[in-house]
Amino acid sequence: MQPVLKSNKLLNVCYDIRGPVLERAKQMEDEGHRIIKLNIGNPAPFGFMAPDEIIQDVIHNLPDASGYCDSKGLFSARKAIMHYTQQKKIASVAIDDIYIGNGVSELIVMSMQALLNNGDEVLVPMPDYPLWTAAVSLSGGHARHYVCDEQAGWLPDIDDIRNKITPNTRAIVVINPNNPTGAVYSDDVLKEILALARQHQLIVYADEIYDKVLFDGRTHTSIASLAEDVLCITFGGLSKNYRACGYRAGWLIVSGEKKHARDYIEGLNMLASMRLCANVPAQHAIQTALGGYQSIDDLVAPSGRLTRQRDLAWQMLTDIPGVSCVKPQGALYLFPRLDPKLYPIADDQQFILELLLEEKVLLVQGTGFNWMSPDHFRVVFLPNTDDLTEAIGRIARFLEHYRKR
Ligand code: PLP
Repeated sequence: MQPVLKSNKLLNVCYDIRGPVLERAKQMEDEGHRIIKLNIGNPAPFGFMAPDEIIQDVIHNLPDASGYCDSKGLFSARKAIMHYTQQKKIASVAIDDIYIGNGVSELIVMSMQALLNNGDEVLVPMPDYPLWTAAVSLSGGHARHYVCDEQAGWLPDIDDIRNKITPNTRAIVVINPNNPTGAVYSDDVLKEILALARQHQLIVYADEIYDKVLFDGRTHTSIASLAEDVLCITFGGLSKNYRACGYRAGWLIVSGEKKHARDYIEGLNMLASMRLCANVPAQHAIQTALGGYQSIDDLVAPSGRLTRQRDLAWQMLTDIPGVSCVKPQGALYLFPRLDPKLYPIADDQQFILELLLEEKVLLVQGTGFNWMSPDHFRVVFLPNTDDLTEAIGRIARFLEHYRKR
């Protein structure tokens, strides 16, 4: 029999967060090793449980949740999301502008599949949450990466964005708060992005899944709230703000210049219908989550658990010779830089693999986030302070050996 090959559509698709190093880590666990995992932003295994009220609501509604629902989602959930858009000052969003998906992940892929023809270009941040680049490639498009500038606290480089716009550019992706850098963008930066979008008729895809995970008193502005004349597609969900990744509940909101987007919206409706609907039991959690008090506020308060873990991880990492790191203002990650003079790394996946084999700590390499050079890695600061201290101590020991090689 001929070998069965994967589709050519997957040739340029890459998602290294769950790549070969994770497979090796799983093998090691099967062999009995304990691995400290700082690789995935999944709060539950670290004791960040979904709020009880949400769990109780899902249980309560379970007997009535065994049928399909509307392809766009339950009315009550979409109504709650609509009210949320009002709190976020996104103008004129109707129930019909809201689509619920099996997590934001499904909706990211759907939104790109509905938009792109072969050769279309999408501006994607570098570094990025790599699903964005993967979804663009899978949909036949080409991700043009714009630089987020580490020297400027990882803010998007507006000149670089401008230089990368071509006649084929359809859209720009903005991840705010950002994964992996933790940057939170000011209104001025968002307005500069909107000015370019307006000038070049780009659609703005705003991934705001961490919009409540904010430190040091930062507030979050939805880019869609700053422009009624630009088509914005905003993404949010329960995974991070409400520690419910496993429920797979996310949403997409269409706002702004909708009247010229009827055909695209028809495409979104078609794709939403083809997958029938999103997981119904989890949709019952949305109204309770958005209507209640049980978000993440206590955890990100100055003495909250997440803030303490961020501070400890940042301090310990930046105490290591040759390691620098912008302190994250939001989300769950640090994205430290290794000085190439001390750490001349040629292949950062290999580097991360060696760390795993020697120290049993699992990270993701910077190039896994489409970063341009092998000199960064991402650290998830969800583990408790004891585990973080142990893990970063091991990273420091590994780096000390690396410097002496
Ligand atoms: N967008 C960003 C920036 C993320 O970091 C993640 C998950 O880590 C997602 C989207 C996917 O979220 P969901 O669990 O809703 O699929």
